[in-house]
Amino acid sequence: MDQYTKLAHSAFGRTVMPRVGLPRPPLLRRYEPGQPLLPGPAVVGGAPGGRLLSQVQDVLKRAGVEVGAAPERPAALVFDASGVARSEDLVALHDFFGPLVRGLRGNGRVVVLGTPPELAGDARATAAQRALEGFTRALGKELGGRGTAVQLVLVAPGAEERLESTLRFLLSARSAFVSGQVVRIGLDVAGPAEVVDPDRPLDGRVVAVTGASRGIGEAIARTLTRDGATVVGIDVPALASDLEAVTRSVGGSSLLLDVTSPDAGPRLARHVREHHGGRLDGVVHNAGITRDRKLANLKADAWKSVVAVNLTAPERITASLLDEGVLGEGGRVVVISSIAGIAGNNGQTNYAASKAGLIGMVAALAPELAPRGITINAVAPGFIETQMTAKVPIAIREAGRRLSSMLQGGQPVDVAETIGWYLQPASSGVTGNLVRVCGQALIGA
Ligand code: NAP
Repeated sequence: MDQYTKLAHSAFGRTVMPRVGLPRPPLLRRYEPGQPLLPGPAVVGGAPGGRLLSQVQDVLKRAGVEVGAAPERPAALVFDASGVARSEDLVALHDFFGPLVRGLRGNGRVVVLGTPPELAGDARATAAQRALEGFTRALGKELGGRGTAVQLVLVAPGAEERLESTLRFLLSARSAFVSGQVVRIGLDVAGPAEVVDPDRPLDGRVVAVTGASRGIGEAIARTLTRDGATVVGIDVPALASDLEAVTRSVGGSSLLLDVTSPDAGPRLARHVREHHGGRLDGVVHNAGITRDRKLANLKADAWKSVVAVNLTAPERITASLLDEGVLGEGGRVVVISSIAGIAGNNGQTNYAASKAGLIGMVAALAPELAPRGITINAVAPGFIETQMTAKVPIAIREAGRRLSSMLQGGQPVDVAETIGWYLQPASSGVTGNLVRVCGQALIGA
């Protein structure tokens, strides 16, 4: 927790800050193993003609969530808006949420379900489904100060049964710092859809994580291990002892490797053959660097090294793992973009280009990998508390934290939890997505 948030929750902060109009960042509830999916009941509703209500009810029942018509303090509100086919039908959102939002607990969850607008039918249905995005993003901004997250899930016709891993993720405390996002679930990638063990959804999976010795990469290694995976931790030789400490404590293996070296992919493939039976279930391209300068002052080396680590290395390593057959049916590729790659950032032309390029890589490879049973997705972190952001000047750092609906920076684990959801076998319907982990940052929103 940053100093300001600590102060806001001290006795002094509680009395003084509201009086002088200072924002009080909410304390976010985070996931712990064994935690129930929700800390209280959910209310479920739907517009007439929807096709997702019974799936929602099944998932909630399996998860042991109590569903009430009008409980006093609901923990979640879920609304199936897939039946909304005309702008006039949108009033169903107002009718359902209007009376309920005030009673929703802090750290609540709101999920609206719809149909991808381009698959909705005629122009009016397309417009009505597209309207759901504006609604959810606006509601996220209204409720973020209470730690409540609001999302839209667009389910392609026929993909109704593939909802479980996504609904569980978005309702749980695993998605504490994810809000105002649109997730798409489709039919393109074959694979299982049922979450077998919600506490260990990655049981038996082997996942490579680059840049695993610290920061977000270390959190990814620890979170995936907690969820049942075996991690191959990768980092530069200079960080050998840090990497070793992480992989030893999670029971994974270490590979000292500069991801930009021409043989990085083949070396990872060889390591997987020698230590993990030749099969990788996922690769998380987390290693990343910044070399910030205004473009006029940016040296060619700083340009080249950022693009080489952040974009060219994920491209080449992914291609090599596919060519070598180490990553196959059921495989998962995850890249770490950034909100700088969406919105751009002053002094980061090189970094923003590399992170936007990753979004292009996901868009291009998702349809290409789908027939092979492999998904590829991106996370775009906003301001996350790590060594990378600790180096940012204090004024910019404070702005980065507060300019979001949740009024704070996220923790590395928040990025890791999102990656864990992408990596699940049951997330086969989730490909080509870009989800921001940014507490609904106002930048680029
Ligand atoms: P970090 O603390 O700097 O960790 C990155 C790790 O990657 C370091 O261990 C780093 O080692 C390693 N690495 C760098 N170049 C490498 C190479 N050529 N080969 C292998 N490993 C290499 O960064 P972080 O904040 O955890 O960020 C992790 C990822 O999230 C990055 O892709 C970053 O761009 C992205 N991200 C972070 C934020 C944030 O707010 N923190 C926001 C948006 C996106 P070195 O010591 O050699 O650098």
